[in-house]
Amino acid sequence: MSAPHLVVAGAGIGGLATALCLAQRGIAVTVVEKRTGFGELGAGLQISANSGRVLDGLGLTLPLKRVGVSSHGLSVRRWRSGSEVVAMPYQPEQMPTPFRLLKRSDLHTVLLDAVRTMPNIRLLVGRGVEDAREEESGISIRLSGQNGQGETIHGLGLIGADGLWSRVRDLTGDASPPTFTGYEAWRATVPARPGDKPRVTLHLGPARHAVHYPVAAGREINIVVVRQAEAAREGWSREGDRTIITEHLSGAAPALRELTATAGDWLVWSLFDRKPAAMAKGRIALVGDAAHPVLPFLAQGASLAIEDAAVLARLLAERLGHEGAAGVPMAMTDYAKARAARVARVQAESRGNGRNYHLGWPLSLARDLALKRLGPTGLSRRYDWLYDWRDNS
Ligand SMILES: Cc1cc2nc3c(=O)[nH]c(=O)nc-3n(C[C@H](O)[C@H](O)[C@H](O)COP(=O)(O)OP(=O)(O)OC[C@H]3O[C@@H](n4cnc5c(N)ncnc54)[C@H](O)[C@@H]3O)c2cc1C
Repeated sequence: MSAPHLVVAGAGIGGLATALCLAQRGIAVTVVEKRTGFGELGAGLQISANSGRVLDGLGLTLPLKRVGVSSHGLSVRRWRSGSEVVAMPYQPEQMPTPFRLLKRSDLHTVLLDAVRTMPNIRLLVGRGVEDAREEESGISIRLSGQNGQGETIHGLGLIGADGLWSRVRDLTGDASPPTFTGYEAWRATVPARPGDKPRVTLHLGPARHAVHYPVAAGREINIVVVRQAEAAREGWSREGDRTIITEHLSGAAPALRELTATAGDWLVWSLFDRKPAAMAKGRIALVGDAAHPVLPFLAQGASLAIEDAAVLARLLAERLGHEGAAGVPMAMTDYAKARAARVARVQAESRGNGRNYHLGWPLSLARDLALKRLGPTGLSRRYDWLYDWRDNS
C-alpha cells in the first residue's frame, strides 16, 4: 500500500513546517506554492521556545544555531527619553530551547533545505491552489499553472497554509475579509555595531512603538517601527519612503534615531486583523495566518503556525493509523478543537499588547508603573502560558 498523501497550499513558514511535521510521521506531502521565488528582505522573527521545541524536534537545532541569535532578554524603554522601564534578562545557557532571533529568510531557508532532503515531500512552485472538490475518499485540487494552464492533483486532504489572503479559507466557505487595523510596520536591517546587546529592545510611545534585535548570527540588527496609516495596501510588503519614517522618529530617543538613521531601504507591511477561522471543514484544514493572522505585538504569528503544524501532523498520523483515509476529516476536526482556545487567546493578547504599547500620556504612566511593579520575574511569569506550550504527543 502506498503512503498516505496530503497537499499543502503555501510554502511559507507554516506550510513548510507542516510538510516537515507530516513527512517526519511518514505521510507523503505535495507542497504547492504560488510564487516562483522566495526572497524576503529586511524582516526578522522572534521564535520563542513554544515553537522552537517543534523546530528542535525536526532536527533543525544546528542549522538554526548557525543563522540565529539566542536572546539574552528583553529591555522595554520609553520612546522620548529612551530610559528603561523594565528589563527581563534570560540566561540562554540555562534554557533548553533558546529564544531565537532570526531573519525570516534564514528560517525559511533552513526549512526549505530540510524539505529538500525529505524524499516524501514534493514541492511544486509557480502553481496556486484555485479550487477543491471533496470526493468519497479524498479531495481533488485544481491548480493554476505558470502559463495559464491548470492541472488537478489529488490527496487525502488539503491544508491551507496560504497566508492572510487565503484562497483555501475561502474554499471552506469563510470569505470574511481581513480588516485593516490602521497600523503599518516599517522594517529594515542595519549592520550590527560593536557592543550591541543580543536581546530584544522595545520602545513604547503614543500610537507608535519600535522593536529591534540582532539577527543573521549577530551580523545585522532587525528594526521594526509601527506607525498609524490612513490606508492599507494588500500584499506582502512595499517600499517605504524614508522621509516619512524619519519624521515619525524625530521625537524618539537619540539611541533609536541613531540606529534607524543607518537604515538603507525600508519595507512596509500594512497590519490586518481577521477573526479566527473554523480551521477545519471536511478534508480541509487551515494553519498559520490563513487560519488566524496575529498582530505582531506578541511576536507569535510564525510560532503559532509552527505549533499548528505539529498538532495537525500528530492528529493526522493518529487517525490515519487507526482509520485510514476515512479518518482524515475527523483528524481535521480534532485539530480545530485542539487549537481553537489557544489561537484565540494569542490573537486577543496580541491585540491587547497593541493597545497597551500605544497608550498616550497619562495612561502610559500607569502602564509603565505596572510594568515596573511586575519586574523581571513577574513579566516572565506572565508569559509562562505562552512559552511553556508543548504539543501533548
Ligand atoms: C511586522 C511583523 C512582524 C512579525 N514578527 C513576528 C515574530 O517576531 N515572530 C513570529 O512568530 N511572527 C511574527 N510575525 C508574523 C509572521 O510573519 C506570520 O504570522 C507568518 O509568517 C505566517 O506564516 P504563514 O506560513 O502562515 O503565511 P505566509 O508566510 O503568508 O505564507 C503563505 C504562502 O502561501 C503562498 N500562497 C498564497 N496563496 C496561495 C495559493 N492559492 N496557492 C498556493 N500558495 C499560495 C504565498 O505565496 C506564501 O508563500 C510578524 C509579522 C509582521 C507583519
